[in-house]
Amino acid sequence: MMKGLYIHIPFCESICHYCDFVKRKPKDDQMIDEYLDALSNEIASYRSHFSTIETIYIGGGTPSMLSVSQLERIFMMIKEIEPIEYTIEVNPESYDQKKGELFAQYGINRVSLGVQTFNEALLTSLNRKHTKSQIISAIDHLRTVGIDNISVDLIYAIPGQSMDMLEEDLDMIQALNIPHVSCYSLILEEKTYFYHLFMKGLFKTMDEDTEALMYETVMERLKSFGYEHYEISNYAKDQKYSKHNLIYWTLGEYIGVGAGAHGLIDGYRTYNQRLISTYIQTPLERKEIQTQEQNIQDELIFGLRKMSGINIKELETKYQFDLYARYPKLDEVKELGLITDLEGQLKLTQKGIFLGNQVFSIFV
Ligand code: SF4
Repeated sequence: MMKGLYIHIPFCESICHYCDFVKRKPKDDQMIDEYLDALSNEIASYRSHFSTIETIYIGGGTPSMLSVSQLERIFMMIKEIEPIEYTIEVNPESYDQKKGELFAQYGINRVSLGVQTFNEALLTSLNRKHTKSQIISAIDHLRTVGIDNISVDLIYAIPGQSMDMLEEDLDMIQALNIPHVSCYSLILEEKTYFYHLFMKGLFKTMDEDTEALMYETVMERLKSFGYEHYEISNYAKDQKYSKHNLIYWTLGEYIGVGAGAHGLIDGYRTYNQRLISTYIQTPLERKEIQTQEQNIQDELIFGLRKMSGINIKELETKYQFDLYARYPKLDEVKELGLITDLEGQLKLTQKGIFLGNQVFSIFV
């Protein structure tokens, strides 16, 4: 079973209007340096796992906003690890050639690029700071340093986004020949600027029908371009799946370091402190034993997020239980046409993909 390492960098240069991740604008470089000191200690505490780690994912926040020397400090902390997949999240506006060269020098072989949309008016409405040409030059340069395993994040159902705009984004993905796409709808989260506007009656979310149509468009168009829809929100060409995310979705072990990071290691779920000042004192907030009950629940929810679904027999043998006896409501969601059980393989239907949460709620 693969093991992963997730490293969280909780800093962003500016805050996007929809974002509820663990992040903040750093006060100064000293704040970043103190954070990196704490991170270094936390990473060192997991040294005994280094030889078994196969994927590294540096996410945020915006890891690429760090300076070359700050980035190099992080890469040095983990240089003994020899991962198969080594990903860093990059925002186009903070990418430059020196950083790209540094990534390549330290063996980073995958970049997850925070594009969201190529439409500059929509980018401004989200408070994203990059331009379309910055996206394209970042991709070009990453390729020149030999990093061609690129994933692009897209958002759809942005207020003001038309179907044409969405199609233009998808066409750009195709034109740029991007091997991996993660595509999420804009969700109104509490404690975001959009939520603040919403509470004042100044923000209108997209109506559900248009959102459903957009989701269908994403699916159909990407499939017609040769992408495999392999997880509810993820698409890959030539099997360029996210190996790191597949660890999450198959209940593999992973270490999570940094503020607000989670892990699943040695049978425990770990939860780190979200607040940077508290994290710097003591990283771990709590750790909870992963019970059999939770394992089954997670296997079902993560398993159904994958388009290949769940092999019922294998799951029942692994956990010694009877799926339909334990979840009698499965029959109901089957009748509603949200899941299928063909030859013992449980999968979401097209309708179920869109109404995934309705299906997942029967397991909790
Ligand atoms: S969406 Fe990403 S870049 Fe924007 S504030 Fe959130 S973490 Fe930072």
